[in-house]
Amino acid sequence: MNLDDYRGVWVFIEQNDGKIEDVSLELLGAGRKLADKLEVPLGGFLLGNQIRPLANQVISYGADEVYVIDHPVLKDYRTESYMSGVMLLAQKYMPEIILYGATPNGKDLASAVATDLVTGLTADTTMLDVDVDNRLLEASRPAFGGNIMATILCKKHRPQMATVRPKVMKALEPDAGRQGKIIEEKIALNEAEMRTKVLQIVNDVTKKAKLADAHVIVCGGKGLGDLQNFQLIHELAETIGASVGGTRDVVEAGWLPHEQQVGQTGETVTPKIYFAIGVSGAIQHVVGMKNSEFIIAINKDPNAPIFDVATYGIVGDAMEIIPKLIEQFKKLKA
Ligand code: FAD
Repeated sequence: MNLDDYRGVWVFIEQNDGKIEDVSLELLGAGRKLADKLEVPLGGFLLGNQIRPLANQVISYGADEVYVIDHPVLKDYRTESYMSGVMLLAQKYMPEIILYGATPNGKDLASAVATDLVTGLTADTTMLDVDVDNRLLEASRPAFGGNIMATILCKKHRPQMATVRPKVMKALEPDAGRQGKIIEEKIALNEAEMRTKVLQIVNDVTKKAKLADAHVIVCGGKGLGDLQNFQLIHELAETIGASVGGTRDVVEAGWLPHEQQVGQTGETVTPKIYFAIGVSGAIQHVVGMKNSEFIIAINKDPNAPIFDVATYGIVGDAMEIIPKLIEQFKKLKA
């Protein structure tokens, strides 16, 4: 394998029902930076049925080139058909880097493609950079129980691939005036030869989805003491129309279901306002909420690490402060 034959940074543009997933737009923002550093074009690749009109949106979010495979068999995501499409594109155009959203479909596709292309894949990345001298992708993610960040390199194989957590990278502001190239590729796929059929798609409407989309989150930690005290978190959230989140310790104590856990092994959230109450600010928690716009921390320990990421901090007993906040917010609403 001659590594110098591979050039360009690519992003898998995941779409469902003709709507591009936010994580793909975020990855175009991250990919743009990598492509500029390496002085190569940024490509997006788009697979589906009747999805060509989405190509212009991909360009507006930062791509120089969009590779499109439009075919009825690609209407719904399936490993087999999507992998055929990606293999065709990757073998023909030979990008040096491919990024995928760490969504169920993105993870499934990336691992299948990595196996067939016999290359490396870093899963669940939270930071990306490139070493311009040797053109190596530096894909970082928490490792060893979240105690360290590991930067993983793929030195001998191409393309270098990573899946990236949703809501970690920032999308660019779309620019409808941006110019780019749309490259359409044909693929020979036959529905009768597919080993799987999509019979029905059932959308997930759990609280998990709600937490990821929430504009305001009140997150409670073990500092609340017990389940009864934790009701104050629900009360505050209800007063201000926020969603409730919790730390892993809270979930393990059975005060909240797992889908409301924020952090490395829970949800990554980016609300406008994030209250962290009785939360110590362990790294595994912080990776899931540090990109919130305003972080308001309440903790009785002035040295709690949560204050390092907080926009505003209140040092004091949550049991005294939460009732006062509820009272004041209720007055404001009245
Ligand atoms: P504690 O660390 O016990 O902190 C309680 C805080 O409350 C303290 O800072 C204390 O000063 C304060 N406090 C106490 N009483 C009061 C009071 N009356 N008023 C105000 N403040 C008070 N954690 C997550 O949250 N999400 C994850 O996804 C996650 N994944 C993990 C994955 C791995 C592999 C590992 C090893 C750990 C993970 N953790 C995760 C656990 C994480 O390391 C911490 O243990 C956890 O976040 C701590 O939860 P906490 O802040 O609620 O509790």
